Amino acid sequence: MLWPFHRPMILPTETLSAPPGLLDLDLIRKYSVAGPRYTSYPPANHFTAETATLALDEAIAEDNRAGGPISLYFHLPFCETRCWYCGCHTVITRRRASASEYLDDLAREMRLTAAKLDRARPVTQIHLGGGTPTFFPPDELRRLGALIREHFTVAADCEFSVEIDPRRVTEEHVIALQEIGANRASLGVQDTDPRVQLAIHRFQPNSQNIRAFEWLRAHGFTSINVDLIYGLPLQTPDSFARTIVDVLGLGPDRLSVFSYAHIPWIKPSQRIFEDREQLPGPELKLAMFALAHEKFTAAGYVDIGLDHFARPDDALAIAQRAGTLHRNFQGYSTRADASLYSFGISSISSTADTYRQNHKTLEEWRAALDAGQLPVERGMRLTPEDQARRTIIMRIMCDRRIDFAKLSKLIGTDFVSMYAGELASLAELIADGLLTPVDGGLEVTPRGVPLLRVIAMKFDAYFVTAARRHAQTI
Ligand code: SF4
Repeated sequence: MLWPFHRPMILPTETLSAPPGLLDLDLIRKYSVAGPRYTSYPPANHFTAETATLALDEAIAEDNRAGGPISLYFHLPFCETRCWYCGCHTVITRRRASASEYLDDLAREMRLTAAKLDRARPVTQIHLGGGTPTFFPPDELRRLGALIREHFTVAADCEFSVEIDPRRVTEEHVIALQEIGANRASLGVQDTDPRVQLAIHRFQPNSQNIRAFEWLRAHGFTSINVDLIYGLPLQTPDSFARTIVDVLGLGPDRLSVFSYAHIPWIKPSQRIFEDREQLPGPELKLAMFALAHEKFTAAGYVDIGLDHFARPDDALAIAQRAGTLHRNFQGYSTRADASLYSFGISSISSTADTYRQNHKTLEEWRAALDAGQLPVERGMRLTPEDQARRTIIMRIMCDRRIDFAKLSKLIGTDFVSMYAGELASLAELIADGLLTPVDGGLEVTPRGVPLLRVIAMKFDAYFVTAARRHAQTI
């Protein structure tokens, strides 16, 4: 189990055995095993340091021959202070010149990559993640926007999103982001309770969230997401209920409510929570997820899958209904499968048959660029079997259906006979009501939606139950 049990706090059974909405808490308990989130398949923990096998130039040339749109990701890693729960690749500094120097190196990486890419391919998606993208002063963000347009062909309808820390954004940042084409934002809120904020070292009054929303709406951001985390120190269902009210008051288009991943063997700063014995136990976490699910769906948001919710008229919800939803390293996406080219430390790129991840430290990343090489540290070349299973898993995660004819067409072979063993292994999930037989396949039921990845795991040839390698299902 991932969750420490130093201070078990179990709610009265009757509180949790009456499922709010369509959540079946007993089923969630039964299937709450550690597992991947399938932002990629195979998951990133299977990448290896044998980068020679990636044959990078050949893989990019092959990707050019296949053509199609491109998605760009820029990892901007700097933060002024560390939030104790953080699981991202960050560099903590207050030295502003770091941004300008990093951008010089990003320019070198873009130049190296752009030289190998077919310039005619349109960029349909851009994402600035971090770290804190607005650690970069407005003029440096403008320089980044100019570099993107210098090296790539950005489509007129490009979906351009940016992660926003409401504590570290000004209206000038928002104006600069709008000028370079950003039109979507994702706000890290996590929890609005000052006690929790103190415990996680992230003081963020709700007035800062409201102000960020006002600026973003005033400057044309058409879709705004809010991230929440449940399972943080000192959180209770009561305190989280107040956070949910605060957040719904902002009127976001999308909501993500993530389970806190306690991985102190990878992120030592999280040890402070164990020392203080402040983490809620698994039953309290489940109660908070159930509460969020109930309140968000009651407020009219659609359960997209896993921990994502969207307004019914938001592009994500529309794509989900139309069967055109996709999934990538940023989570659910409306854009058709695009090749992903990523820049900056620790970022991951993908083509049809490769994943490649950059060096995770500034020093190693810069050293590779100094040597004129793509700064790739590890990766994976996918076999045809990996690619077929990736297609199946992504369609389950996005369509909530196992459509035999559609999958046979997508993988180029008869799905039912090829995956007979995996289909047989779904019997218990069908008996428990996570899936139901329909004409031509199986459909995920509303009870099964929060457990989508449990269904997907049945088609994962790499999956082993290793609690220390993955986050819990809830
Ligand atoms: S601001 Fe975000 S990336 Fe930076 S330390 Fe906090 S959680 Fe991590």
